[in-house]
Amino acid sequence: MNKQYWNFSAGPSKLPGEVLQQAAEEMLDWHGSGQSVMEMSHRGPEFTQICDEAEADLRTLMDIPDEYAVMFMQGGATAENAILPMNLIARNASHSADYVLTGIWSTKSYKEATRYGTVRIAAQSHQDRQINGQTYAPWTWVPAFEEWKVNPDSSYLHFCSNETIGGVEIGALPDMSTLGAGSVPLVVDASSHFLSRPLDIRQTGMVYAGAQKNAGPAGVTVVVLHRDLLGHALPYCPSAFDYVNVARERSRFNTPPTYAIYIAGLVFKWLLAKGGLAAIEAENISKAQALYRQLDSSGFYHNAIQPEYRSRMNVPFTLRDDSLNAAFLDGAKKQQLLNLKGHKSVGGMRASIYNAMPMEGVLALIDYLKEFERQHG
Ligand SMILES: *Cc1c(COP(=O)(O)O)cnc(C)c1O
Repeated sequence: MNKQYWNFSAGPSKLPGEVLQQAAEEMLDWHGSGQSVMEMSHRGPEFTQICDEAEADLRTLMDIPDEYAVMFMQGGATAENAILPMNLIARNASHSADYVLTGIWSTKSYKEATRYGTVRIAAQSHQDRQINGQTYAPWTWVPAFEEWKVNPDSSYLHFCSNETIGGVEIGALPDMSTLGAGSVPLVVDASSHFLSRPLDIRQTGMVYAGAQKNAGPAGVTVVVLHRDLLGHALPYCPSAFDYVNVARERSRFNTPPTYAIYIAGLVFKWLLAKGGLAAIEAENISKAQALYRQLDSSGFYHNAIQPEYRSRMNVPFTLRDDSLNAAFLDGAKKQQLLNLKGHKSVGGMRASIYNAMPMEGVLALIDYLKEFERQHG
């Protein structure tokens, strides 16, 4: 590959070049074992080392204490949306949980959970809201933590900390005791900004993330769960999805997605070598600031999100004139800028600038934004 391509896909998405290079070198024979990682027994010493190291590196990166289980599961965040209520909603006798709805992904999580118990909406942004004299459309703003009405006996409170489609990010965690729900564990779908910034796991009951956005290839879902929450699975929960089994067997109750875990493990090592989550966060802030600054610099491009909740990872934007969309995407492709088309439900464009996208790629996009505006503005 001699041309430099920049892939802005929302997921599956760009992986660090160094990780892919190492995987290529180790593809046929992992560390002199005579086997590809794809060909190893998931119970053999080689894969045991790979899986244990991935877990240990993730614990180091996120500062995860022993009271939390780390599980590598299958089925993506969509399956986890079902697996988590099956495991947690029976913590209280009324089988009820609370959800905050801030976009398409949290709404999907909510709908899935309604199949397993009584699910309440603690807050939602599915309506227009006036903020500082400006009207924000549904899913472009976030109800402040003080507005979250959490039932104090809820089994858990679920929210999505980065809405991949809408481009809305909730960077902080609510303090549940000030919400009058100090014993309600927080459950966070962090799929699309997982490992992009530090996250205080001790303030949560559970964090989960499909790996293919920011942490690895499709096929593995990372689940970090406080062990106090184990042991409430509904009777019909499949045994392969009962967190008690997965945690006890350290992700090897049955055959896990071995190759995806291996690649995710390489991504964890790549992040550690870069200096960890504070270091990558600093890069992500610079990248996002540069891109939003360009989008805001004229009326030609527009990002509609309430400024303090703009995602650092997924940046949706529209052109002043929708009829230019096809020309924009064609021209982008000619500049080797790939996958900028917005999600069909939102339209326009979306640039996903995950950990693996360096500033250089963002600057290439900014150059193109300027040039396209010069020609069509
Ligand atoms: C992509 C995504 C999902 C769904 O992930 P799948 O792996 O397709 O099941 C759920 N939540 C968020 C926030 C996502 O970005």
